[in-house]
Amino acid sequence: MIDRNEKKTTACPRCGSQELWRHGKNGAGNRQWLCRTCGRVFVLKPFGITDEVKTITDRLIGEGIPVPVITRVMGGYVSRRWIYNRKRLING
Ligand SMILES: [Zn+2]
Repeated sequence: MIDRNEKKTTACPRCGSQELWRHGKNGAGNRQWLCRTCGRVFVLKPFGITDEVKTITDRLIGEGIPVPVITRVMGGYVSRRWIYNRKRLING
């Protein structure tokens, strides 16, 4: 479910292609993508986060799941820092 959504909302910053391959993770643990069209490697930016991802993350935070676990569950789609910020927002 997340994978499909991820592909739909992710595009190469150089050529705009959505023909992407997963390309491991960078040092910060963020998912890297390889553009099949132009070969560019890039990291998905937080502004690409969809409502669906926010909803799922919020639910996991609400359940009291530790942030590192949520990071793993979300498959590197959102950064750990983003989840911590989200948690602060929710828990006040
Ligand atoms: Zn490209």
